Formats: sequence, structure tokens, C-alpha cells
Amino acid sequence: MNILIMGGPGAGKGTMSEKIVEEYKINHISTGDIFRSEIGKQTELGMKAKGYMDQGLLVPDEVTNAMVKSYLEMLDNKNGFLLDGYPRTIDQAKAFDEMSKGTSLVIDKVLALDISLDELTARVTGRRLCRGCSEIYHVTNKPSQKEGICDKCGGELYQRKDDTVESLKVRLEEYRTSTMPVLEYYRKQGLVSVIDASQSIEDVWNDTRKALEAEV
Ligand SMILES: [Zn+2]
Repeated sequence: MNILIMGGPGAGKGTMSEKIVEEYKINHISTGDIFRSEIGKQTELGMKAKGYMDQGLLVPDEVTNAMVKSYLEMLDNKNGFLLDGYPRTIDQAKAFDEMSKGTSLVIDKVLALDISLDELTARVTGRRLCRGCSEIYHVTNKPSQKEGICDKCGGELYQRKDDTVESLKVRLEEYRTSTMPVLEYYRKQGLVSVIDASQSIEDVWNDTRKALEAEV
């Protein structure tokens, strides 16, 4: 099974990805991993990508697309993959379709984790980090024993500057606007399941499993 997962800020994409990979024994593949691997192995494509990155330029789609394909073809685990962070644009999605046609790399399902602004706000604005050890707390879901003080190291807890309602609203809007064309593209192919990520982790996971196990 080949899955594409999409999810905005605070939607819990990392948590769901871990569960999916464990349950279905598939490869978790993020574009970051692919770039690191190709550049590390100094493949021709990797070196090309590095050339652009070193100049502070965006890596062109044709290089990224080719790198993703070659990386996926090299995988030992043939159960499938969970793609994370790619395709990011409709051009990349079309190119990937073109490349994967008739191969084992065709995308079977697209999961879109969606969260309401209210729930996102509750999750993120309650977050507190430790200055000493970077442990993460939450004022209601995971409070420290003494307010403002880390249980682990006694360090001071603080709130990240960009964890405010205003900036969250902007980040959520940006995410929705940029992913909408890609989602629309896959929706026309009947591949998209929208998951309500405002629910508890358990319920999100149940919905995710149902979506993945339903016949297309
Ligand atoms: Zn600490």
C-alpha cells in the first residue's frame, strides 16, 4: 500500500505516521530523508540538488521528482510507503503520477489530517517548553508539577513566541491554501480521505485505519 499523508500545523501528522508505519510495516519517507540520503551517497541527482541548495536556490521539480523515484525504487521493503512532504505542488503530483504509471509506486490513498482552528489553538497556545532540556509540557494536557518549572531538570518553562492565536491562524490558512490544489487533484481520482484531527489520538487512529482499509 502506497500512502500520501498531509497534515497542517498541530494536526499530529508525526504521531499518525509512526502508527501507520508500525501497523502496515511500510517505509516512512520524507523528502528530507531523500535529500539527505542522495546527497550523502553523492549520487548524480543528489549533487545536482546540493548545487542549488548551496546557492540558496529552490531545487527544481525535475530534480526532486527524479530523486524521489530513484529513492523509492531502491527500497528493500516492498510492502509500500508512506510519503510525507511530497508531492507538495500540483506539478509534482502530476509528474509523480506520470513516473509511477504502471509501476508499483502508484499512490493508493491520500490521508488529509484536518484540524479546526479552535482545537489547534488549544493545543498550541497551551504548550510550554523547558529552557534547560527542551521537554514539552501543556498547561491542561500535560502540566508540570510546579507551575512554570520543569519536572525533569528544574529549568524555566516558556511559551514559544510564534505559538499565538494570530500566527496560528496565518499558518493554518497558509497550509490550507498551499495544499488545496494537491488535495483537489487527488480528490478527483477518488483517493482522498479527510480525517478529523481535532479528535483524540485514539479516534484519529481509528478513522485513519478505517480509511486505509476501505476499498478504493
Ligand atoms: Zn527541563
